[in-house]
Amino acid sequence: MENPYVRPSPIIADRGENIGVAPQNLSYQQLEALGHPKNPLKAIRAHCVGCSNGVISEVNKCHLTDCPLWPMRMGRNPFHAQSKHSQNKDEAPVAFKQSEASETPIEKDLNKHA
Ligand code: SF4
Repeated sequence: MENPYVRPSPIIADRGENIGVAPQNLSYQQLEALGHPKNPLKAIRAHCVGCSNGVISEVNKCHLTDCPLWPMRMGRNPFHAQSKHSQNKDEAPVAFKQSEASETPIEKDLNKHA
């Protein structure tokens, strides 16, 4: 079945290559029907899970800090939390906590009751 959101490029240099339509030109209903998350953080998390072959623990352990999505891979925006709670933006990062690095909130909850 033909994808209605992919069309031949009108740009001559593209030589008829297919391009995706601009999402801002789609209606809310069209976007929703495609099944994409509305929340950008959920979209990032979904991308990271795909990047890690569906293995969530691999997303949590991702060490590719130069990836633009790395700070948000846990489905949260750490910059938002820091802007609320941090008085000094230049302060050294919080010490690395092994338990926080390897556990999702669900895993933490499960371990709490173990
Ligand atoms: S942060 Fe890691 S898991 Fe997410 S897209 Fe980048 S490399 Fe992949």
